[in-house]
Amino acid sequence: MALSCYLCKRKRQKGNITLHQFPKNICVRKAWATFCKLNTERDNLNNLRLCSSHFTNNDFKTSEAEGKKRYLKHDAMPSIYIFSKRRGGEEVLF
Ligand SMILES: [Zn+2]
Repeated sequence: MALSCYLCKRKRQKGNITLHQFPKNICVRKAWATFCKLNTERDNLNNLRLCSSHFTNNDFKTSEAEGKKRYLKHDAMPSIYIFSKRRGGEEVLF
């Protein structure tokens, strides 16, 4: 199964969408979990990813050394809600 974003189901795309694991830092991790309506104790977050669509440009830093590769800052918190549109119809888009 290909990895996709927990919230919007986007897959990694060259150049614009990147997938990010839940951070190790417990405070930041909890903030991510709250954002996703998950529980850090009840839910297994290790297999989940959030895509870059939920973060602002300020949440990233760019490494000049490695061909301008983008990194998510270790204390970045998701702030943009985007959901997938499903044909079933119960999901809300944006
Ligand atoms: Zn996403």
